[in-house]
Amino acid sequence: MAEYSALSLIRNALGGNRDWKPAWRKPEPKPAYEVIIIGGGGHGLSTAYYLAKEHGITDVAVIEKGYLGSGNVGRNTTAVRSNYLLPANTRFYEHSMKQWETLSHELNYNVMFSQRGVLNLAHSPAQFDDYARRGNAMRHDGIDAELMSPAQLAREVPGLDLSASARFPVVGGLMQRRAGTARHDAVAWGYARGADRRGVDIVENCEVTGFQRDGDRITGVTTTRGEIRAKKVAVAVAGSTGHVMRLAGVDRLPIESHVLQAFVSESLKPFLHTVVTFGMGHFYMSQSDKGGLVYGGDIDGYNSYAQRGNLPIVEEVMSEMVALFPSLASVRVLRSWGGVCDMSMDGSPIITTGPLPGMYLNCGWCYGGFKATPASGFAFAWTIARDEPHKINAPFTLDRFHRGLVIDDKGQGATPRLH
Ligand SMILES: Cc1cc2nc3c(=O)[nH]c(=O)nc-3n(C[C@H](O)[C@H](O)[C@H](O)COP(=O)(O)OP(=O)(O)OC[C@H]3O[C@@H](n4cnc5c(N)ncnc54)[C@H](O)[C@@H]3O)c2cc1C
Repeated sequence: MAEYSALSLIRNALGGNRDWKPAWRKPEPKPAYEVIIIGGGGHGLSTAYYLAKEHGITDVAVIEKGYLGSGNVGRNTTAVRSNYLLPANTRFYEHSMKQWETLSHELNYNVMFSQRGVLNLAHSPAQFDDYARRGNAMRHDGIDAELMSPAQLAREVPGLDLSASARFPVVGGLMQRRAGTARHDAVAWGYARGADRRGVDIVENCEVTGFQRDGDRITGVTTTRGEIRAKKVAVAVAGSTGHVMRLAGVDRLPIESHVLQAFVSESLKPFLHTVVTFGMGHFYMSQSDKGGLVYGGDIDGYNSYAQRGNLPIVEEVMSEMVALFPSLASVRVLRSWGGVCDMSMDGSPIITTGPLPGMYLNCGWCYGGFKATPASGFAFAWTIARDEPHKINAPFTLDRFHRGLVIDDKGQGATPRLH
């Protein structure tokens, strides 16, 4: 498969763009593989890529029930950051951030990673103190963090209501400048192309409908395109985790599936140069390179597998946007959609061997698994290849919930909506 380069762009432009090759093959599934990964989202694809690249394991199939990018990897609001408090999270997400910084070169695919910063707004002195504590924890772990005064915010975020009469007056903010956004579906396509060129079979439109077992051991999967055996079966299906694991007889997991909606406005002249989050509710917004505002808020407050949400959350998200930026009240929404999120009980992910022999589990990404895509794939591939966790995912076990070792960054307790 050809490298993408300036030369190939020019050659194809002159040739009427008729010579581009498909970025990945469409193979028929083989009867057996060394590793099967269920789920062709960001995490499944990056896992396949790192299995091949870092561990030389290329006899791998990624089994995807729809088309690549049809899940959350192609539905998120694209924020990438490592601004956590607890060491398990800062170290894992900073590993990911460092991978993001070289990802386009690594994949020879422009994932449009833009380090435009992520700014958390504080609306009370107590919240500002809390952000100072988190910023200090980040800096302690070598991660950039900057506290900002309202005067600095006025220079950096035009349109933000900084008046004392605002619904929730802004008292300051915590900025991570190395954070930002990336083009979500390019990440899926880049990892798919990278895995495919190393020999991984990506099998689309193939749903896993059951597991093959030898006693407790998982030995393969049943799919809508036949049975496939494997020495190792990895599950990376995000919002479908509960459903797929139930097919293997695992019917109790600390995961709930909820819809999360996203919105894009009509195009506006560029005015918002960073990702802004609201501290008095749950709202985040950036402006895409095409000018549309990309924003979202809370999950819908009920369990669902539907990829569309309901109107109360639409109203809540719009009111939060207008509370921060009153001048956007008349901006029109161009489109909206939903994705099914795998909400864990402590807000942190699970990347582990098991829970059955021959099986590996990756889930619990809540609102924030897109930014984890590189580190999750890197760590999950390590775990599958070596049957033990890498040090960055060692804390993210499944049994931490039994052992009382939860990783609850916000201290919110087992309330998925609040993580
Ligand atoms: C609206 C929204 C906004 C978000 N915003 C952000 C953000 O700004 N920043 C951030 O970091 N994260 C964000 N997230 C979260 C992030 O998108 C997810 O955590 C992450 O994409 C999940 O991992 P994934 O990419 O592997 O999931 P997915 O892309 O959902 O991949 C899972 C795949 O498994 C497949 N599958 C399911 N069942 C089966 C089966 N039986 N057989 C075969 N295949 C199956 C699905 O079709 C799907 O393609 C957001 C999510 C949503 C919905």
